[in-house]
Amino acid sequence: MAWTQTQARRLKELGLDPEAVECPASNPSEQNHLFQQIEKKQVKKTRAALTRFLSKDRLTRMERLSHDLSRTLIHHGFSRVTTPVIISKSALARMTITESHPLFNQVFWINDRQCLRPMLAPNLYSLMVDLGRLKTRPIRFFEIGSCFRKESDGARHNTEFTMLNLVEMGIEMDKRESRLQELAAIVAGSAGLENYEFQTESSEVYGTTLDLVAGPDRIEVASGAVGPHSLDSAWGVTDVWAGMGFGLERLLMAGLGERTIGKWGINLAYLNGNRLNV
Ligand code: ATP
Ligand code: MG
Repeated sequence: MAWTQTQARRLKELGLDPEAVECPASNPSEQNHLFQQIEKKQVKKTRAALTRFLSKDRLTRMERLSHDLSRTLIHHGFSRVTTPVIISKSALARMTITESHPLFNQVFWINDRQCLRPMLAPNLYSLMVDLGRLKTRPIRFFEIGSCFRKESDGARHNTEFTMLNLVEMGIEMDKRESRLQELAAIVAGSAGLENYEFQTESSEVYGTTLDLVAGPDRIEVASGAVGPHSLDSAWGVTDVWAGMGFGLERLLMAGLGERTIGKWGINLAYLNGNRLNV
């Protein structure tokens, strides 16, 4: 027998793959009994994991990943910045995201001039201009922070997600692509991602991007671009640069070989990948 929809959903919530859990029952009542036994066992396991988080782990896997990536990038000469979550409509427009742009409808507006950032790039562009006035080169910095998009696909998308965006500016023109790959490999290595590959994709905002794909379904975990880029002139950026944006939840899910993102998202249903309503 196959699990009922409700049973399958609950098994999934509790971290089990319903298709991988056998259901050797011959009638609904037997099936129900079996389900309750499995659920009870899994609830116990989940409670133990939550208790361990409180008493031992203390940092979620997401926080640990964020710390590890931060340390690695600082070691490679990058400085960490924090910029505002609320950005202006005009900053989005400089990224070509205006009413006619597909991403425009995914933006959360808080009033007619401001929104929650759907990406870190506008703020990082602004920093590139200001820091670019300094004589020192290369200039390397990164941000790790929340971004917000209205999304329809729940398996790979969260409304709020954590982006790591790094920028290296003032590099050699003929080395920018190889440097981008090098930087992607540094981040992937630090995240414990071994099995990944690069793919060239076309993006609504960045034109052509170099994407990093990984995980059992080969999902995009990062998108990178190099400059001089068509967006640069709107900001007044003239340096040669390489930059890449990574989704931390996707890095985590791909690294763990998982197919859905939900339990790693920022929400009140899961804590450190463990279902809370147990
Ligand atoms: P996708 O095509 O998968 O929706 P994207 O190309 O729109 O992603 P980018 O704008 O390139 O995403 O953002 C950089 C990275 O941020 C992505 O590679 C992905 O890892 C992550 N990301 C983007 N949107 C989301 C989301 N809604 N939830 C979780 N991670 C996301
Ligand atoms: Mg992309």
